[in-house]
Amino acid sequence: MASDARSELPRPWAESLAGKLRDLERQTLTRSIVTPETGPEPQVTLGGKRYVHFTSNNYLGLSTDPRIVEASVEATRRYGASTSASRLLCGSTPLHDALEAKLARLKRTEACLLFSSGYLANVGLISALAGPDDAVFSDRLNHASIIDGCRLSRATTVIYPHCDVKALEGLLQRTTAKRRLIVSESVFSMDGDIAPVRELVEVAKRFDALLVLDEAHATGVLGPDGGGALSHFGIAGTPTMIMGTLSKALGSAGGFVAANATVVDFLRNRCRTFIFNTALPAGSAGAALTALDIVEQEPWRREKVLALSKHLREGFVALGYPPSRSETPIVPLVLGEADVAVAMEQRLKAAGVLARAIRPPTVPPGTSRIRFNVMASHDETDVGQALAAVRDASRG
Ligand code: PMP
Repeated sequence: MASDARSELPRPWAESLAGKLRDLERQTLTRSIVTPETGPEPQVTLGGKRYVHFTSNNYLGLSTDPRIVEASVEATRRYGASTSASRLLCGSTPLHDALEAKLARLKRTEACLLFSSGYLANVGLISALAGPDDAVFSDRLNHASIIDGCRLSRATTVIYPHCDVKALEGLLQRTTAKRRLIVSESVFSMDGDIAPVRELVEVAKRFDALLVLDEAHATGVLGPDGGGALSHFGIAGTPTMIMGTLSKALGSAGGFVAANATVVDFLRNRCRTFIFNTALPAGSAGAALTALDIVEQEPWRREKVLALSKHLREGFVALGYPPSRSETPIVPLVLGEADVAVAMEQRLKAAGVLARAIRPPTVPPGTSRIRFNVMASHDETDVGQALAAVRDASRG
């Protein structure tokens, strides 16, 4: 018997939810799940058709690398599919401890703490550290998980204009809060630009503020050793805290905070998304451990993905699009209104290129875009196909 689930909702809910969905549809802002039949490889099968795939954060091509897959399988075989408890209640494995030590080494911090996702790391870190008497200074384009961490902290949140350190300084001068925390992505997820990290470190020092860098898109990609933005800029000896994720360049899943030992000790005791959450599956920890070895041993992956990204960016400019701020494998093609971006997504798809439209509230209104994510497993032919598809689609 067919059932209409909506009819079972209380009327005020059914009406308001349906109304909100209709509003989204009117603005071309409805979201839907796309389910490919294959993993995040350069070529992906979707609905039985092959596409060149530019929508994955698998920057170094590691997620489907046989060594990572084997490490994940081996760890799962040994420790089970689930850790079945929080870290503090026996959900830990030697792989978790080893991964924390290895991440701390990569990030040159005293200690590190794993989370089940980058989202939980940001929400937990900011809300554990900051409270109602504190002030958090957050870049206008920071990720939703940072925004939610700020909200949950109940600290005064001051949004500063994107990457504008002068404006940030002015706002810091005006605050009366004694404890200040500055938070910024080091590579911005929707624009691919790199934050002025040297200046942020300097301002944080001058104003006695803590600096948190979200390195979700920088870890494994930036710096000669893949260590991220501090390594990229050659900055050492700073108390900067690093939040990161295992789910992008490292080809696994999970998140982490690498920081001073006191901060990590505090988080282990007070961070709710760490304490009250089942530990990361051993398979993810095992995969990330092997990924870190590959990050160290195969710098060609970083070099290749950055070179291909540059080629794509320059190709867009040659097609008449304004240059973007991107310096990383995230290459945005900013188009304006949501319907224009969705139309472009559809034309690209018809040409065999899978690259998704990104719309508000993920990006500010009027800046809807196609975001191309390049991977080290792509080659010049893939980039050429993307450029040809954009050229043809732009002609309408
Ligand atoms: N921070 C940034 C900047 C991100 O882009 C993301 C993922 N989109 C996250 C945090 C959350 O990481 P995860 O996917 O591991 O939850």
